[in-house]
Amino acid sequence: MRITVLSGGVGGARFTRGLLALLRDRLSDGAGGTTAQVTVVANTGDDLWLHGVRVCPDLDTLMYTLGGAVHEEQGWGRRDESRRVSDDLAAYGLGWEWFTLGDLDLATHLARTELLLSGVPLSSVTARLAERWKPGVTLLPMTDSEVETSVETVDGRTMHFEEWWVLHRAAIPARAFHQNDVTVAEPAPGVLDALADADVVVVPPSNPVVSVGTILGVPGIRDALRATPAPVVGISPVIGGAPVRGMADACLTAIGVETAADAVARHYGRRADGGVLDAWLVDDADAAVVEPLRSEGWRVESAPTLMTDVPATAAIAARALALVDRAP
Ligand code: GDP
Ligand code: CA
Repeated sequence: MRITVLSGGVGGARFTRGLLALLRDRLSDGAGGTTAQVTVVANTGDDLWLHGVRVCPDLDTLMYTLGGAVHEEQGWGRRDESRRVSDDLAAYGLGWEWFTLGDLDLATHLARTELLLSGVPLSSVTARLAERWKPGVTLLPMTDSEVETSVETVDGRTMHFEEWWVLHRAAIPARAFHQNDVTVAEPAPGVLDALADADVVVVPPSNPVVSVGTILGVPGIRDALRATPAPVVGISPVIGGAPVRGMADACLTAIGVETAADAVARHYGRRADGGVLDAWLVDDADAAVVEPLRSEGWRVESAPTLMTDVPATAAIAARALALVDRAP
């Protein structure tokens, strides 16, 4: 069984961790792993150069979460982290001191940067870093080129996505998101095959705009998703009219989409109508949208979708796969 996941950072990583737990249970390889093959295509629009190193927030969140090294409460970064280097850099007044690089995290960025500067493409660098963390999935960046997301605010400024998200906490109303240099970008090696050859594709509860939307913006990926013979199932990142964590509502508002489980489904669209999904799992809190969506042709159900712990998340993954007849 081959499963491909299009992921942002915390939401996608937590979902994938639950999915892997489900697969290890249902499709065990007898050695603590699974016979299923999971490929995660990660958003790299949040990436940035900072203090001379290349930071890839969503790839790292995936790697640390699936590799058992994540700071659990925070959802990103390393556990048992310290910030001596970052504090000392701030004393020079250099860089973006609001974007903290932990000391252990910095080692990841230094290793990545060394390899990138020696000419190794990001996809190969990612595979190399993953050899250490053994995430249990094939981890792919959406593209090997630098396609950073910038935000155009209603007051006419343009800034890097991370400046808007982390420094301003998405509090400055945004007008648009841009993917710099995306027109010349290509999907990273393995991405299109992972979509074409999958038995099922999952859009996890990730940010529909600046995580999944960014991945779909890389030329060729949306078409590959539309063309795959595999069913495509999504899980709503909005529960009861609010993003569970973070400020995804600010992103949805900026592109004119209501922060509601049914509005996000319609934003993605059904493949039968030119969109990218075949089925949509919403939270029980949004059970009222099930019938209206069904009457529009959606395959949709409600379930508990709070990723409170790994077993609860495994159950969400099971429901999502069952919704497209791919229960493992
Ligand atoms: P980021 O890159 O770290 O922002 O992470 P993602 O893009 O992968 O996912 C962030 C989104 O996940 C948030 O905007 C929430 O809407 C969603 N999310 C987070 N936790 C949960 C949860 O427990 N259940 C559901 N359904 N969605 C969640
Ligand atoms: Ca992210």
